Amino acid sequence: MKAGISSGEFLAKFDNSTMAPNAYALIKRLFPICRSITGDGIRASLNLLRDIIPLEIHEVPTGTQVFDWTVPKEWNIRDAYIKDNTGRRIVDFRDNNLHVLNYSIPVHRKMRLAELTPRLFTLPDHPDWIPYRTSYYQENWGFCLSHNQLERLNRDEEYEVCIDTDLEDGSLTYGEYFITGATKKEMLISCHSCHPSLCNDNLSGMAVSAFLAQALGAMSLRYSYRFIWIPGTIGSITWLALNEACLPDIKHGLVLSCLGDTGPFHYKRSRHGNAEIDRAVEHTFRHHAPNSEMLDFSPYGYDERQYGSPGINLPVGCFMRTPNGQYPEYHTSADDLNFVTIASLDGSLTQLLRVIQVLEENKRYINLNPKCEPQLGRRGLYRQVGGLKDIASGQMAILWILNLSDGKHDLLDIANQSGMPFHQIAEAASLLCASELLEVRNGLRPAEC
Ligand code: ZN
Repeated sequence: MKAGISSGEFLAKFDNSTMAPNAYALIKRLFPICRSITGDGIRASLNLLRDIIPLEIHEVPTGTQVFDWTVPKEWNIRDAYIKDNTGRRIVDFRDNNLHVLNYSIPVHRKMRLAELTPRLFTLPDHPDWIPYRTSYYQENWGFCLSHNQLERLNRDEEYEVCIDTDLEDGSLTYGEYFITGATKKEMLISCHSCHPSLCNDNLSGMAVSAFLAQALGAMSLRYSYRFIWIPGTIGSITWLALNEACLPDIKHGLVLSCLGDTGPFHYKRSRHGNAEIDRAVEHTFRHHAPNSEMLDFSPYGYDERQYGSPGINLPVGCFMRTPNGQYPEYHTSADDLNFVTIASLDGSLTQLLRVIQVLEENKRYINLNPKCEPQLGRRGLYRQVGGLKDIASGQMAILWILNLSDGKHDLLDIANQSGMPFHQIAEAASLLCASELLEVRNGLRPAEC
C-alpha cells in the first residue's frame, strides 16, 4: 500500500540518511563507463539504473527521422592509445575515457607530432586536466590529454595512434520510467545521460533522478511523473518527436543537471517565464535556499531549449547547482568523484522534493463565506492554529487564504503575497476545508485542480 501525502509530512517520508549516500554510490558505479549519445555505454548505464527503479529501455533505430534530425549511427569503442616508439602507451583510453574525442571514427596509423598536433586537445590553463570534447555530427577523430602530457611529446618521434571504434547502423538508447498518479496530468523530469566520466555533468543528474523516481514511486501522488534519461539534444528531440501525443498532459517539467557540486542552486525559468513550476521553484528558493539564483530562459544550455522550442512550448525549467560552463572543472577530468559530495546531492534531493511538494499541494480554492470575515472563534479557528509560537502566523495564514480564495489565486499565489512559506498556507487551507469555509474551486474534482 502506497503512503499518502499530508501537508508538512511530505519530506519526512523520505529517508535522507540513505538516499544521498546511495546516489553517490551509484555515481561511483557509473563513473568508469564510457558513455556517448549512442552505444553500449549508455545502455550499460541505464541497466545499472534498473537496480534502483524498473525503467524501460527504448531503442530507436539509426536513420529514424525525428523532426529536422536523423538518429545517428551507433558508436562503440573498445580501445584507444598513442604509443611511443618503444611501444609504451603514453595516452591510454584505459586510464581515462576522456582521452578520446567522443564519437571518433576508427584510425590506426603512425604519424609524427606535427601531423598529430591538430588532433590533440589540451587545457593549457589547467595543465593536469584532460578536456572533454565531442564530434557527433561531423566525422572526425582526435585525442584529449593533459597539457603536461602534450609537453612530454617529442617532435622527432613517430607515434602509433589507434582508435578502435565502430560507427555503424544500430540505435539510440534512452530510459523511461512512468509513475501513475491520481490524474493523467504529469510532470516530466529529464536528464542527459550521454557524458562519459564526468560526475557533476551529468552523473549527478542521472543519480538524483533515479532516487527521486524511486522515492516518488513508493507514494500515492496527485500528478503522474515521467522520468527520462536521454542523450543530450538528439535524445530530447527523438523523445519529443516520438511522443507528441503525451505532450498535452505535461503540466510541469524539469531538466536536472549539475546537482552534486557545492555551489548554490540556480534555476533557469521555462520559456513561459512564470509557469507554476517556475513559481514553485522560486518560492522554495526564497524560503529554503538563501544564496540561490533565478535565471531567465535562454535558448541555449541543456534540453530545456528543445522542450521550450516554439512548436513544443512546454513549461520545463532547468534545475542546477552551479550552471554549466560556470565552474572551471566543467567538461574536464576534474569533474570527478571528488568534485561531487554526498551533502550536495542530499541538499539537491531535498530541494527538489520541496518543489514537488508545492506542486502536489498547490490548488485553487474558493471561500464559501466571502461576505465579510467568517466568525472564526465559533469554529475553533481563532488563535487555535499550530503550536504556541505559530499562533500568530497560523492566524495570518487563515486570513490570507480567506481573503484571496476568490477562485483566481492558488495557494502558491497566497504564500507569495503573504510572504509565508507554502507549507504553512497549505496546512491552514486544510483546516479551513475541514471547517467547511473553503472548498476546491467548483467544477473540478480535487485531484484535477
Ligand atoms: Zn555537458
